[in-house]
Amino acid sequence: MDDFYRDYLIELGRNPHNYGHLEHPDAAFEDLNPTCGDRIRIELKLDASHRIADIKFSGRGCMISQASTSMLTDAAKGLPVEDVMKLSHDLILENLGGSILPARMKCATLGLKVLKSAVMGEVASWPDEST
Ligand code: ZN
Repeated sequence: MDDFYRDYLIELGRNPHNYGHLEHPDAAFEDLNPTCGDRIRIELKLDASHRIADIKFSGRGCMISQASTSMLTDAAKGLPVEDVMKLSHDLILENLGGSILPARMKCATLGLKVLKSAVMGEVASWPDEST
């Protein structure tokens, strides 16, 4: 990781995008990474075509968890829920500059795990259209 990128991540960790709460979220989920103490909550709103209309996250934790979730919420905005479920750890690694210590992998991917759990919980609550 070069210095410029490192500074960018530190800044993003301090002032993350999409930080806060939504008034009436359609879905929300919270989880933590006990090995580091990171805790992340994601709230989202879906539009009529099941795209992410708005997304906010809150919680606290290390710079990597905060910066990574900030970039993830930027990427998720506007995506259909099917595409959210396809987001992979590769995107997270790419966002973080390509490499990360294995020990910090859980910090980096916590936001993605929480986002997918929120989406899955919401999708599971939809009426089954096949019956
Ligand atoms: Zn962490």
